[in-house]
Amino acid sequence: MKIYIITIFPDYFECFKNYGVVNKAIKSGLVEINAINLRDFTTDKHKTVDDVVYGGGPGMLLKPEPIFKAFDYIKNISKNPYTIITEPWGKTFNQEMARKLAEKEEIVIICGRYEGVDERVKTLVDEEISIGDYILSGGEPAALVIMDSVIRLLPGVLSDDESKEVDSFSDGLLGYPNYTRPAEFRGMKVPEVLLSGNHKLIEKWRRFQKLKRTYKNRPDLLEKAKLSVEDRQLLKYIIEGKEFEDLIKEGKIA
Ligand code: SAH
Repeated sequence: MKIYIITIFPDYFECFKNYGVVNKAIKSGLVEINAINLRDFTTDKHKTVDDVVYGGGPGMLLKPEPIFKAFDYIKNISKNPYTIITEPWGKTFNQEMARKLAEKEEIVIICGRYEGVDERVKTLVDEEISIGDYILSGGEPAALVIMDSVIRLLPGVLSDDESKEVDSFSDGLLGYPNYTRPAEFRGMKVPEVLLSGNHKLIEKWRRFQKLKRTYKNRPDLLEKAKLSVEDRQLLKYIIEGKEFEDLIKEGKIA
């Protein structure tokens, strides 16, 4: 995948490229991240990228010309990139959107700054994306969030490809709790089931915990999640306030 970012702060992305799975993905040629400096596409001495807002009002806007020129430049060196702009009024980013983006060969991300960008830039854009209901000072942190979630989904990026499947949201539910050694830490014990070696029971415990966490933290997700008959039964117990251990004691789970 090739990613082109149109930004007034290309250095912003250097740190991002140097760490973790993103760095590995770059090194193994699975992704290329090109931050394009918007100021390189200005024509005046001061490399002006912004201007006042028509109709009055506070702040400045990114001018259309440099963005269109930067976009033309990218079009020339790429095939048919899918173009995103980061906007607070865009569709709220989620795992499904990340999955769809991970299928694209080339992506352009236009980062707004100041009061935003001239509305005519929208004619270049396939999708407006927000990362949540709050206002950032620029699109760059949103671009980082989008890229990070997309890059880890690219085939071959995660060493254990399975870990994508057990992550929160992958099946519409939140993830289950995890523990590592020691089995007891400052008086806090790892749940017995996880030490049992009974894989079927562990699987059930994890499903129960996923459902419980989703019910408690994000009940809205349950409406869309694909739930089996067994899931619905577990959910009924959860709503009744039962713990997994109670269900074992009561013989409802074996
Ligand atoms: N005037 C705008 C806010 C501009 S914030 C308004 O009325 O909503 C400046 C830039 O930051 C935006 O152009 C956009 O690129 C980026 N930005 C701000 N909040 C964002 C969010 N929640 N998601 C994605 N990008 C955001």
